[in-house]
Amino acid sequence: MQIPTWLAEADLENLLREAAKPSAPRVREILAKAATAQGLTLAEAAQLLQIEDEELLTELFQAAGQVKERIYGRRVVIFAPLYLTNECHNNCLYCGFRAANRSLARRTLTVEEAVAEAKALESQGHKRLLLVAGENGRQAAVDYIVQVIEAIYQQADIRRLNVNIAPLDGEGFRRLKAAGIGTYQLFQETYHLDTYRQMHPAGAKADYHWRVSAPERALQAGIDDIGMGVLYGLYDHRYDTLALLAHAHYLDRTYGVGPHTLSVPRLRPAPGSQLQAAPYPVSDRDFKKIVAVLRLAVPYTGLILSTRETPAFRDELLHLGISQISAGSATSPGGYRERARTADPTEQFAIEDHRTLDEVITCVLQAGFIPSFCTACYRSGRTGERFMQLAKSGNIQNVCQPNALLTLQEYLLHFGSEAARNAAAPVLAKEQEAIRREDIRRLTADRLRRLEQGEKDLY
Ligand code: SAM
Ligand code: SF4
Repeated sequence: MQIPTWLAEADLENLLREAAKPSAPRVREILAKAATAQGLTLAEAAQLLQIEDEELLTELFQAAGQVKERIYGRRVVIFAPLYLTNECHNNCLYCGFRAANRSLARRTLTVEEAVAEAKALESQGHKRLLLVAGENGRQAAVDYIVQVIEAIYQQADIRRLNVNIAPLDGEGFRRLKAAGIGTYQLFQETYHLDTYRQMHPAGAKADYHWRVSAPERALQAGIDDIGMGVLYGLYDHRYDTLALLAHAHYLDRTYGVGPHTLSVPRLRPAPGSQLQAAPYPVSDRDFKKIVAVLRLAVPYTGLILSTRETPAFRDELLHLGISQISAGSATSPGGYRERARTADPTEQFAIEDHRTLDEVITCVLQAGFIPSFCTACYRSGRTGERFMQLAKSGNIQNVCQPNALLTLQEYLLHFGSEAARNAAAPVLAKEQEAIRREDIRRLTADRLRRLEQGEKDLY
């Protein structure tokens, strides 16, 4: 087994060697280019990833913050994961769901239980969920996921369902697409072949190629919003970040569309996992560097951060380029309805941010950002290449900013606490003013009023 041609050709070890200890003038030259939101070559990203000088690091973070602000304004998209099953035939050394973990209470939600979980999240104000599942190897896995998706769309006011499940074949992906998923998300974990083999000793996931080729199988099957990522801590973060970018560039070159989102999960302790500690721990300082470099390298790609990180660190990373965060998360099947009652023996890994959705919303607002529950692009067919074209032309601003404010207002009216409403008042006023086109500003003011009078889901 070998790594794919596009990865071998990128020759990452060599790139990293050549880019070690970049000079200050060279770093500033790269940052000046990055500030124009053109993205970065792999060689440029390799240099920025190896900045050690504190002053240059501050400049890197500032540049990333500015590009984020220019493309996303102050918006931060909010979602929650919904775990469907912790049954898994694989044995990933780092995961609490691994088959060899005999102390985990195994559970797969029925379709009705999955809908009940979705409704529990809906009752907090969520509109966008990520369905997550172990890989239980059953032939019926796709049938089950499709039934869950259809039932949630029919029975709950959930407006976008994304999916993070094991790779499927083309037919499986076509069925997910037909069921109306938003993004198909899959993390490669590590692109480094030897490490991958070590970490995934058994089960279908041991097949590196089946996994690394899954995003393009999904694209070929018509799913044009793809999410990718690596699990930081398994291997050298510089290699894996560059490999992730090489993968993104390859998809863009070959299919005309790169990933819609990238995620940056960092390894967490997991009860029953085989790893006592991360083989390649990533410090907070390096993690910030990763987020900033990704933001500059693929400026139009969403960057997702989960509750694996602490509240204070999550707030800090919003300034460096994160554009989507999960909130109020549980990582066990049934976790939302049952969390209050039990200590959880069924979770995948321990989370760090235990705030409720409303507490996260309030903090995001207090930091001057606009929490957004918007799902309009996906429901208006603005996905894949079409989304990217709009984003690159800057026109997406005229759509996203008003829609973010409308979904925030809907949240505040139906679910928001007094603290959230108080924190929102200045943000809503200021960000309405920031809408550049007068006709859109007026339309938005009108729609905000209609929401107050009881209408819903305006975009
Ligand atoms: N089972 C499918 C798979 O592995 O692709 C999808 C769901 S799996 C629960 C989602 C992701 O959780 C994995 O891709 C992995 O990156 C992440 N994960 C597993 N164990 C973790 C841990 N201990 N800390 C942080 N993230 C972890
Ligand atoms: Fe199963 Fe996914 Fe956990 Fe691996 S990471 S053990 S495939 S749930």
